[in-house]
Amino acid sequence: MKVIKLANPRGFCAGVDRAIDIVSEAIERFGAPVYVRHEVVHNRKVVNDLKAKGAIFVQELSEIPKGSITIFSAHGVAEQVELDADYRELRYFDATCPLVSKVHKEVVRFAQSGKDIIMVGHENHPEVEGTLGRFPLNSLGKMYLVEDVDQAKSINVNQPENLCLVTQTTLSVSDTEEIIEELKKRFPLMQEPKSEDICYATQNRQDAVKQLALESEAIIVVGSENSSNSNRLKELAEKSGSISYLIDDPDQIKLEMLHNISSLGITAGASAPEELVQLIVKKCMTFGYENLEELDGLKENIFFKLPVELR
Ligand code: SF4
Repeated sequence: MKVIKLANPRGFCAGVDRAIDIVSEAIERFGAPVYVRHEVVHNRKVVNDLKAKGAIFVQELSEIPKGSITIFSAHGVAEQVELDADYRELRYFDATCPLVSKVHKEVVRFAQSGKDIIMVGHENHPEVEGTLGRFPLNSLGKMYLVEDVDQAKSINVNQPENLCLVTQTTLSVSDTEEIIEELKKRFPLMQEPKSEDICYATQNRQDAVKQLALESEAIIVVGSENSSNSNRLKELAEKSGSISYLIDDPDQIKLEMLHNISSLGITAGASAPEELVQLIVKKCMTFGYENLEELDGLKENIFFKLPVELR
């Protein structure tokens, strides 16, 4: 019998829920349009649904008329973006996930004590741009980005004895482990954050996909191509030996992809809505799957409050 198994937990995390609520609530209170700098979360459906409600997504603040209501995305922004928003007299609400803000605070604290900082993350990802942009220009130290083990092996820093580490929140735990081990070998005095920067939702979804991979011949990760945490789930599923697809539209699923797959796993990145998961399940059911099983998993009860003005 052909079966679909659903990972738990999957889909929206508390940071994504909060970011979407901030945009929806701002439209409700102030009326459309509300301008959003960058995709508020990396998911096509979420962005299109918010566009339909009256959100306008822009790349740069220069595209936003003076005085407009503006939202910064969940990935966080550099300090310069806030200053620019003030200069342009925008009324802005910050949808930065509190777990990303925590890393921003670490960067400022380390920089204020004159330390060098290494960030482990992917160049050009908006979260990384935002976090690097929190390093004060007048700091005595320097901030460096390391993307992989090779860079960890070759990087040189000014102050190896006065060095700290931060990481992008949505990386794979196992990927950062290897990079961090290498960095620790080279810089034994490097100080790590008190608690890990990899967020609870990333960790839980990665644990769940590994469990799912034990029971599935192929795995569909519901998520968009530009979603970092969805891509990490796909990589982990592949490492665990499953064929894996990243899908954000039911029409992308073709019969040949599921040829000879009797046990199909489905999970979703932290930016993918459950509604989309259910549409994808429905589409797969048309390819002969008869049973649907929810795997047991950790119950999450994390909730982040909205900014005071939007409560
Ligand atoms: S994945 Fe983690 S860091 Fe990113 S928005 Fe969700 S809770 Fe925040």
